[in-house]
Amino acid sequence: MDIKKKDIRALTKEQLRDFFEKEGDKAFRGNQVYEWLWNKGAHTFDDMTNISKETRQMLEDNFVINHIKVDVMQRSSDGTVKNAVRLHDDLIVESVLIPTKTRTTACVSSQVGCSLDCKFCATARLKRMRNLNPDEIYDQVVAIDRESRLYFDRPLSNIVFMGMGEPLMNYNNVLKAIDKITSPEGLGMSPKRIVVSTSGVPKMIKKMADDNVKFKLAVSLHSAIDEVRTSIMPFNATFPLASLREALVYWYEKTKNRITYEYVVWEGINDKRKDVDALVQFCKFAPSKVNLIEYNPIDDGQFQQAKSEAIDMYQQVLEANNITVTVRRSRGKDIDAACGQLANKG
Ligand code: SAH
Repeated sequence: MDIKKKDIRALTKEQLRDFFEKEGDKAFRGNQVYEWLWNKGAHTFDDMTNISKETRQMLEDNFVINHIKVDVMQRSSDGTVKNAVRLHDDLIVESVLIPTKTRTTACVSSQVGCSLDCKFCATARLKRMRNLNPDEIYDQVVAIDRESRLYFDRPLSNIVFMGMGEPLMNYNNVLKAIDKITSPEGLGMSPKRIVVSTSGVPKMIKKMADDNVKFKLAVSLHSAIDEVRTSIMPFNATFPLASLREALVYWYEKTKNRITYEYVVWEGINDKRKDVDALVQFCKFAPSKVNLIEYNPIDDGQFQQAKSEAIDMYQQVLEANNITVTVRRSRGKDIDAACGQLANKG
């Protein structure tokens, strides 16, 4: 790749229009090129058949299109598809297509590696190498939309930011990608079908509320007791539960959107009655529901999924307190595509 050339998709439509005007062309040419880049997903300037050869060459001389490349695609016995996605600088991230009877969900990455250090997550071991650009996030979604049409005969219906990385540590680019995904010039998807999942960065949760975003929020809680949460998610020492709680109350007051808490129950870590009671208390601060996720082992055996009695206890106590709870089974485990398993094993 020529490092002097700029990634053309980093330009807004206005900037592209300005560029063409400065080149002595019509600003309208900017709209045409923009449409090729975003609506039609052009991978090369030569794809742009209604643009003159000279103009295409001029674009070639000035810009690159840093498209992602799906390097390896694995299909699980349960239908889940995992893409290993190669970026222009040869780094790899993973994204997952999760089909159910009625929907297709894309699980996308927001960073290469992750800056957080959750003890139970395989991605945490990669460290954060860099943030993804908006177009690299958008491309993952487009790739999965294509696969959904190809294999399941229907377009993508939902997106979750639950792949590699902490989306709120790459907030601006995630927001730009979502803008593109939801705009009629991109995929035209409803923001209500998008979930951003965070380990809980209080300042950024408040910023999202101030920005009046329309997508949904999920928080990886895993424990409502500071001591326990810090032992499994060390950054909780910096952002303790009280500050998270305050940010979530702020979020709800501004957006009126209820929050989903993601929660894994591990043996000997958070499988006691006191753990459930703390969760019940935490859920009372803002309207919320709890998603109990199955644990996907990541090799070293330090963590173990709690016994089913513990999970039943969680379910009963939460329901008795009128808190909605769902128990989510893992998908794609055989190809390391399940929650917390994305670690570029290939
Ligand atoms: N950084 C974001 C999004 C990525 S993780 C976040 O923390 O929310 C997506 C979800 O998978 C999170 O709820 C995370 O806690 C959970 N997870 C991580 N490792 C897991 C594992 N080994 N088994 C099950 N869930 C896991």
